[in-house]
Parts: sequence; structure tokens; C-alpha cells
Amino acid sequence: MNAPFLHIDRPAADRVAHPGSGTATIALIVPVHNEEGAIAPFLKAVCESIDPLQEHGVTFDLIFVNDGSSDATLERLIEARQADPRIRVIDLSRNFGKEAAMTAGLDSCDADAAIPIDVDLQDPPHVIPLLVEKWREGFEVVLAKRANRSSDSFLKQRSASTFYRVHNWIAQQKIPHDVGDFRLIDRQVIEALRSLPERRRFMKGLFAWVGFRTATVEYVRDRRIAGQSKFSGWRLWNFALEGITSFSTAPLEIWTYVGATISALSFLYGLLIVAKTMIFGADVPGYASLLVSVLFLGGIQLLGIGIIGQYLGRVYAEIKQRPIYIVRRKYEGMN
Ligand code: UDP
Ligand code: MG
Repeated sequence: MNAPFLHIDRPAADRVAHPGSGTATIALIVPVHNEEGAIAPFLKAVCESIDPLQEHGVTFDLIFVNDGSSDATLERLIEARQADPRIRVIDLSRNFGKEAAMTAGLDSCDADAAIPIDVDLQDPPHVIPLLVEKWREGFEVVLAKRANRSSDSFLKQRSASTFYRVHNWIAQQKIPHDVGDFRLIDRQVIEALRSLPERRRFMKGLFAWVGFRTATVEYVRDRRIAGQSKFSGWRLWNFALEGITSFSTAPLEIWTYVGATISALSFLYGLLIVAKTMIFGADVPGYASLLVSVLFLGGIQLLGIGIIGQYLGRVYAEIKQRPIYIVRRKYEGMN
């Protein structure tokens, strides 16, 4: 576990089966949370796109991760399994969030590659053959990039683009703009992701962190087919904080420089006051400047402490070593 580097290699026999030729299995990883209305249309659209690939030797597993749904999502999935044995269901014990649900799916996938995909058809299944084609050309990661985000509200577009800019400005591992979790990842990438022990999983960042040869295909993102988005403004804000704090310590370190600058300026100002007092004598007024500097410094200090708190909270969550998700039951094979 503590190896200074991780070397992932496939056994030679496996290499022969690499997607360039022969048969391959790809797992679609579908996290679902209260999506009873979306499952049937999703399956229909997905099958239309993946069934033709069977002739080219590519078979699919459909791994649904039921992330603590309180509606009939699980029943719909179990029904769907009767009709299509490629469907597997991992039922989590409660709602753990999309990142954890995806991790559960990736952990239980034994295919040659995996494609995380949303069930609301916002990640269009007709892109899957394009992803597979690039993979067969030898790319280990094939990103599906949103050519435009017009299906999102203006506010969401602006905030997303600000997030990508800020994140990439301060984080070492850049994450590509407008690329969600929808992408194809090769077995080697899945293994690399599995080797990352962290509990708080910002998947977009982790995907970027592991690297590998990457290609990109573009698609237009549609509106959701049924139900509501599960990501409110507040949840997205926290998601953005998660991303930035997971991949950069710049917000922590910046206070060294802010503190140093303010101290230097205060020192100079102090010198000025001493000089003034010596030349012109003591001068009583100064209430306004005193109050402003006390409030300003108080604010700056609280901000700094708050940011330390953001990281400390995450260290605390990490150090508890709780599992990322808990499985209530798996429905696979004959079970
Ligand atoms: N999802 C999940 N757990 C959650 C929230 C969302 O598994 O706690 C799933 C959801 O069912 C969907 C995908 O994650 O398949 C994307 O969610 P959504 O469409 O709400 O996100 P958006 O497209 O608005 O970013
Ligand atoms: Mg969606």
C-alpha cells in the first residue's frame, strides 16, 4: 500500500485481449438516486446504442448503484433484471452521494473498461460507440466533453466555468473544462483509482490525477428526461469546495503571504506614526482608522481560520477511516 509508486500492469494473456482486437467487456456504471421514472427510457436508449456493438465483439455489463433511493427505483431495477441479465444492481444502505455510488460501481466492476453514465440521459448513450472506438485506438481514457451547456441555466454555466478556472489556477492537476464523469476508462485506470485510499472522493479530480493517455470526443448535453436534478446550488458549492480542497492547499498557504504583507505594511505604518508623533506631537483623533483596522484584521483572521477549518474537517473525516459506502445487497448473476 505504501509503495512510493504504483505500477499497474496486466498479465500478458490479458494484453492479447486488449480492445484493439478480439472481444472485450465494458461496464456501464450508473449511480441512481430516486430515478424511478428514468430507468426504463435509459435502458431503451442505452440498448439501442450498445447492442450493435455486440457484433464487433464488445459486450456490456450494466451496473446500477442504487444510492439510497426512497422511491421505487430498486423495484424498477429488479424488474429490469428479469428481462436483461446483463443488469447488476448494487443496493447501498443509504444515500452516500454520487461520488461514493460511482466508487461502489467501479469497485465491483471486473470488465475491461468502464463508463460512468448518468441515468437521466444527460450523458447521451449514442456517444458510447465513439468512446469505444477511441479506446480501441489505444487511448486509456476517453473523455466526453460537452460541446455546449445551453441546457444548463445561465447561473450554472457561469458558476461551472468559474469553478473550472479557479480550480485549475490553483490546483496542480488540471481538470478539463466541461467534462463530467461521463467518460470511458480502461481497466488500468480503474485499478489506479482503486489504489487511491482516500474516503472523500472528488472523482473528476481523481480521474485527472491518475493520468493516462487521453482522447476527447464532444457531445451536446440535453435536458434531464425525468425527475429533478439532485444537485442544488448549495450542494454544488460544497462540491466545488471539495474539489478545490482535495487537490490544492493553496487556500491554506496563501495566509502566510497575506499575513506577511499586512505585517510589513503595519510595521511601516507604525514607523510613520512614531515619526509623526515625534515631529508634530500626539494627535488624539484616530478612532475611525483604529476601528477599520481592527475590523479588517478580525475579518481576515476569521477567514483564515475558516479555511483552516475546511481542511481540518476533511482531515478529520479522512482520519476516521470509515468506508466510502456500505452495500446492503448485491443483485447479480442468479441472485
Ligand atoms: N445521483 C446519485 N446520488 C446522489 C445524487 C445523484 O447517485 O446523491 C445520481 C443521479 O441519480 C443521476 C446522476 O447521479 O444518475 C446525476 O445526478 P443529476 O442528474 O441530479 O445531476 P446534474 O445532471 O444535475 O448535475
Ligand atoms: Mg443530470
